[in-house]
This record gives sequence, C-alpha cells and structure tokens, in this order.
Amino acid sequence: MNTQKNFSLRPFNTFSIEAKAKYFARFDSVETLESLLEQRGRDPLPWLILGGGSNILFTRDFEGWVFHNSIRGIQVVHEDERHGYLKAGAGERWHELVLHAIHKNLGGIENLSLIPGLVGASPIQNIGAYGVEVKDVIHSLEAYSIAEKRVVTFTNNDCEFGYRDSIFKKRYKAEMVILNVTYRLDKTPRFRLSYGAIRDELEKMQVLQPTLKAVSDAIIRIRSSKLPDPAVLGNAGSFFKNPVLDENQFQRLQSHHPVDAGKIPFYKTEEGHYKIPAGWLIEQCGWKGYRKDDTGCYEKQALVLVNYGGASGKDIWELSEAIQKSVLQKFDITLEREVNII
Ligand SMILES: Cc1cc2nc3c(=O)[nH]c(=O)nc-3n(C[C@H](O)[C@H](O)[C@H](O)COP(=O)(O)OP(=O)(O)OC[C@H]3O[C@@H](n4cnc5c(N)ncnc54)[C@H](O)[C@@H]3O)c2cc1C
Repeated sequence: MNTQKNFSLRPFNTFSIEAKAKYFARFDSVETLESLLEQRGRDPLPWLILGGGSNILFTRDFEGWVFHNSIRGIQVVHEDERHGYLKAGAGERWHELVLHAIHKNLGGIENLSLIPGLVGASPIQNIGAYGVEVKDVIHSLEAYSIAEKRVVTFTNNDCEFGYRDSIFKKRYKAEMVILNVTYRLDKTPRFRLSYGAIRDELEKMQVLQPTLKAVSDAIIRIRSSKLPDPAVLGNAGSFFKNPVLDENQFQRLQSHHPVDAGKIPFYKTEEGHYKIPAGWLIEQCGWKGYRKDDTGCYEKQALVLVNYGGASGKDIWELSEAIQKSVLQKFDITLEREVNII
C-alpha cells in the first residue's frame, strides 16, 4: 500500500481543479481499507473517499486523507425467473457496468449510459437520467462502517433514496464506505423511451425495434451532443438540482411571472409536485454561455459550470453563488447544489 504525500488531485476530478491531498492512497479490498484507516489512526486528520471525482468541487487543498476506491469485479451472483442480480465492486467504472449489463442482456440501467464516475458513488446521490433513477434497480449494497469497524449490508429500503439523495448524504455522510452494489436487472427489458429525445434519436438511427444496445447508443449520442466531455472541458455535469415545488409554490411562481407563465417548463413528479429544470431558470437569468476568464456556464446547457483551463475551485464556487443569487432574486427559488463541495 503506497501512501503519497502532497498529492495533486487534478487528474482525479473532472473539473480539473488543482488541489492537493495531504495524504493519498488507494484501497482495493476491505483489508487494505482497514489498514489505511489504522495508518490514519496515527494521524487522525479528516478523510474523504474519492471515486471518479465527477461530482466534486475542490475549493481548497484537502488537509487530510483521500482514499481512492479501486475495488473491482462484476458478476451475476443470482438469477430468478425474471431477474439477474449483478454485483459490482465500488471501484468499477459506472459506464463499464452498463455495458456489461447490456452484454448479459439485462435491462434497467441502459438509460444511465455514459454517466461518469464509479459504481460506489451511484447510490450516494441516486444517479438518474432520462427517466430512470438507480434506486429503481439497486437491490442491496455492502458498506464499511468506520465507527463500527465492520461491513454492514443495506437493502434498497435502508438507503432512504430520494431525488439525488440517500442516507449516505445525510445520516451516514462521511461514515460509510461503499464497497459493492448489487443491482436487480430485468431479463425481459422494459424500455423507457418517453423521456427527452430518445424516440427521435432511435428514429434517426433507423432503429425499428429497440434493443438495450440501441437505447444505450441513442442515449450516448444525445448526451455527447449536449454535455461537455470532461476530458476536453472541465465540469461536473449538472451543478444544481432541479427545484421541486408544491402546488402553491408553482402557482405563486406562475402568478409572479405572467409573461413566462405558459412557458415555464416542468415535470410532474409521482407525488404531484412540479420539478422545474434548473437549467431553464439559470438561462432566464442570462447566464447561458457566460464566461469570465476561465470560469463559465456551458453554452449549450446553463446548468453545467465549466473550467476552461485555469479556473480555481473558488472561482467556480463564486460563480455558483452569483447564479444562486440571481435565480433567487428573479424567481424566489433557492437552487441547491448537486455537486459535493470540499
Ligand atoms: C459530464 C457529466 C455528466 C453527468 N451526468 C450525470 C447524470 O446524468 N446523472 C447523475 O446523477 N449524475 C451525473 N453526473 C454526476 C456524476 O457523474 C455522478 O454523481 C457520479 O455518480 C459520481 O461518481 P464519482 O465516482 O465520480 O463520485 P465522486 O465525485 O468521486 O464522489 C461523489 C461523492 O460520493 C462520495 N463517494 C464516492 N465513492 C464513494 C464510496 N465508495 N463510498 C462512500 N462515499 C463515496 C464522495 O466522497 C463524494 O462525496 C455527471 C457528471 C459529469 C462530469
């Protein structure tokens, strides 16, 4: 086990922000994690688990231990008549898992194609895209409890999933290290094509009968045309969550913006609430395509803040503050950050 000191995290966050970790080490099993924690015991500074760094903004050096998750392995661990249970190590790349599932002809995560990051982070914020959330397919997961020094199993219900939320962002924040996740996937795919432009894209691809691979390819094409590739332009995807309003709040929003009223886009949630695209609110405040020095708001999607090369985490943070303020002023809505701020 190789612990490195004053380690640059730039290659380990998709914003490409320069920040240093006082200590950096990889773990690929419970045993190596335990011995790192023991080593840390002698210097008990704060710690952070880092996956692919695609949902994190470093606004400063991390004066503690950064543990990089490298637990690997994907296998079908159980089958019943309708489902295959795919278990993946937390250090596997999420998109590789999607491709693996498609290869095994198991459906349920094809709409989540091309989301950056690692398997271990998928339950943390209940990743979602194109009408699917990972909570729909998570069967269970194993995590290491730092306080209790033992492996704990969580069922789907135990995870208390919500919109971009789970128990791991609340009660167990900085307490549980996710080791592996088991997904319950469908042997007979149930395609979800009504969201966004999936059907149009399949048509463009001249797909008459959808397959898991075709849907995944369509999603990849749509995402690639809309979102910046972090390898080219530093970003962490959606910076803010889409605000969810109840009936009264939505009526108030409409009455305060009579000109926009008919045009305010929304998705109705299962609970009957109104989810307003944060990107639209930000765009209405004039931020889309904004750039100051190396910090900006992506030209095709205002919800994505970008680093054109030399931005610091503080620069991005300050831009996010300015955006929050103007959305609050114009719409009386407080945007909540989706990205984890360090
Ligand atoms: C271009 C782009 C597009 C994106 N699109 C989407 C999208 O469509 N939908 C969506 O939901 N997200 C999206 N994201 C955000 C991001 O990809 C996901 O949130 C992803 O799950 C983060 O994974 P990660 O491994 O990079 O996590 P990291 O950024 O490394 O970590 C995120 C948080 O989880 C914690 N964490 C990570 N691994 C573990 C673990 N094993 N145990 C305990 N804690 C852990 C970290 O400490 C941190 O707090 C996008 C990001 C980018 C850059």
